[in-house]
Amino acid sequence: MSNNGLVSDLSGRGPDATKTSCGLTRLVNSLEGAERTSLENAITKIKEDRGLGRAKVYSSSWLAGVLRKNGYNISASTITRHIKGGCNCE
Ligand SMILES: [Zn+2]
Repeated sequence: MSNNGLVSDLSGRGPDATKTSCGLTRLVNSLEGAERTSLENAITKIKEDRGLGRAKVYSSSWLAGVLRKNGYNISASTITRHIKGGCNCE
C-alpha cells in the first residue's frame, strides 16, 4: 500500500492554490467576442450603479437572471462577491 498520492496531495498546495478565479471570471473567460464584451460591460455597469436596493438599474440579481435565462448557471451572490472584491480574481 502506497501513501504517495496522499503525501503529494497534501504537500502540493502552493501559494497559488487558493488563487482560483470565481465563477463569474471563469464565465467571462469562456466567452468570446460580443458576448464577452457585453458581459464585461454589464459587470462595469453594476459596479458603477450607485442606486440602492430597487433603485439599482443594474444589479447582481439582474445579471444572474439574464445569464440563467441564457443557459449560464451563476448565482447573484457569486456576482455580488466579485463586484465587491471578495473573491480571488484580482
Ligand atoms: Zn471574482
